[in-house]
Amino acid sequence: MAGLRGKLSRYLFFSCQHRTMPEGPEIRRAAEQVAAAVAGREVRQLYFAFDHLKRYESLLAESAIRAVETYGKAMLIRFSCGLSIYSHNQLYGRWYICKAGGRPRTRRQLRLAIDNSECSALLYSASDIAVLRDDEIAVHPFIGKLGPDVLSPQTSEAMIIERLRDKRFRNRQLGGLLTAQSFVAGLGNYLRSEILFVSGLSPACQPKQLDERQLEQLATAILVLPRQSYETDGITNEPHNARRLIQQGASFEEARFWVFRRESRPCYRCGTPIVRVRRGGQPVYLCPHCQRNC
Ligand SMILES: [Zn+2]
Repeated sequence: MAGLRGKLSRYLFFSCQHRTMPEGPEIRRAAEQVAAAVAGREVRQLYFAFDHLKRYESLLAESAIRAVETYGKAMLIRFSCGLSIYSHNQLYGRWYICKAGGRPRTRRQLRLAIDNSECSALLYSASDIAVLRDDEIAVHPFIGKLGPDVLSPQTSEAMIIERLRDKRFRNRQLGGLLTAQSFVAGLGNYLRSEILFVSGLSPACQPKQLDERQLEQLATAILVLPRQSYETDGITNEPHNARRLIQQGASFEEARFWVFRRESRPCYRCGTPIVRVRRGGQPVYLCPHCQRNC
């Protein structure tokens, strides 16, 4: 992340404008923007909206920010004093980076501000914010239960296949399993639909029903799609297909997905209309022809 600091000017006034809720790739990109804005710079002022965190304001402002890390959909801003600011954006949280002292035009509530002489990193609307000691991180109620992070280079297909075969997970339906952060960390609603489509599997399938080839294809998609989304600023469709669609007049949101939010539109592979089904309160989008029941 330190390498991005030289590109800071590109990121002033950054905010994640995607219409989807932030998932692992979006949080990782936001963390890089926050790191570019604040890591290694002297903090001029630090503000928490929540009363129970105000006692940390001056202590953290006097300490250096040494890293910004992500754990699935959570972010940790790590300070040299041995404390970290934990945040989880949930549905509504949004990061903005502005020039020093600047504030975006928004009706959202400011929850955390880190100002230095050049810029401000601002977190709006998030309610899940805490200050943790280093020894509290691994046992934090969210972080402590996370499976391997899909964006971590240490997470391999073999590890994913092993978890798909694990008795904790093998009987669960994929529609619910993929967004369970204890299975793997960083997947949310759009990645779930896209992974199931690319794997050719129905959300009702269970890992125990899959043969070797299907397990491998699923494990590959679980790692490849989030990493592609991170690299391409949110595209899980084939990039050349997305580019062609945009050249033909489609918006970015229309072009970036295989199936997500494409209800009634033709499948890019077979032309069958995409359908939307409910899974755990959140919709899954799928092609009834390309994705077979197990
Ligand atoms: Zn299809």
